[in-house]
Amino acid sequence: MILVIRPDATLEQIDHVVDRIKELGFTPHVSRGEARTIIGVIGDETKPQAEMLQQIPGVEQTLPIMKPFKLASREFHKDDSVVHVGKVRIGRGSLAMIAGPCAVESYEVMDTVARYVKAGGANILRGGAFKPRTSPYAFQGMGEDGLKILKEVGQKYDMPVVTEVMDPRQVELVVKYADMLQLGARNMQNFDLLKECGKTRTPVLLKRGMSATVKDMLMSAEYVLSEGNNQVVLCERGVRSFEDSTRNMLDMSAVPNVKGQSHLPIIVDPSHATGRPDLIPSMCRASVAAGADGVHVEVHNCPEKAMSDGPQALLPHQFLDLMGDLRRLAGALDRHFSNPGEN
Ligand code: PEP
Ligand code: MN
Repeated sequence: MILVIRPDATLEQIDHVVDRIKELGFTPHVSRGEARTIIGVIGDETKPQAEMLQQIPGVEQTLPIMKPFKLASREFHKDDSVVHVGKVRIGRGSLAMIAGPCAVESYEVMDTVARYVKAGGANILRGGAFKPRTSPYAFQGMGEDGLKILKEVGQKYDMPVVTEVMDPRQVELVVKYADMLQLGARNMQNFDLLKECGKTRTPVLLKRGMSATVKDMLMSAEYVLSEGNNQVVLCERGVRSFEDSTRNMLDMSAVPNVKGQSHLPIIVDPSHATGRPDLIPSMCRASVAAGADGVHVEVHNCPEKAMSDGPQALLPHQFLDLMGDLRRLAGALDRHFSNPGEN
């Protein structure tokens, strides 16, 4: 349920509403908009106490939220949310370009790729230290040593870093090094992991599961939000289909579909969606044109030697060309790639 607060309510009154909601056995989530404050009330709306919410001084109106996801819904938060990753903004016209190798492989590779993607205009550096591999015999990532390298290189090039966390027990370690926690497609419905990330205040990049619906993805976001972490960015990365000429099937309509239903930013990952460098640039352009809040691409200076996802990596010069196109396109649509330091 949503409580719409009267426009003339004082801060004391709002605090009182929050206290009353808790006393009545519900959990309040306050959202202060420019014109209005609204409070999302989570709990069993069929409880008799729910009727008393309407009576609290300062409350103008109570509205049911029809969607199964509440805090992620547009009804709860009318304006687009902005997520802050270090000094980078994602949402409301500020675009993310998340780029880097699939995995952190060594200091040298990380440093080389970071230098190129920074020069091209990427604003967030990626690299997996814990890799979700289909085969247990494949490279599993460098673990904490990889996290250290990623953080050091991110600092050197003044880029916040995003890296995947695969297990609730890793969260405490990964938050020490990462500016953003990536929840991978295979873990989109690892509910304990979602809750653990929700308990942190580190922004989360939640990737769509390979057979998840848009609604499933929003329900997973709700897990993170309901624990108090409102810094969630969604990521469309393709879903499984009968088509076998691409790695996955990119669902571009997920972008406006999510935007209609949710205030959360959504970016697109054409690297994992297509698995094909020849398709990645056009799908990045299509993502920005469709209204995405950014894109996510894998880049490697020597894809043939990459320890994971080499075949889908863009070469540095391809990345540079891509960024030139995307900057022009974003400008034409009155959007821009977030510069570290803007507020
Ligand atoms: C990745 O980003 O390297 C990755 C494994 O992505 P996904 O979870 O989308 O497959
Ligand atoms: Mn990858």
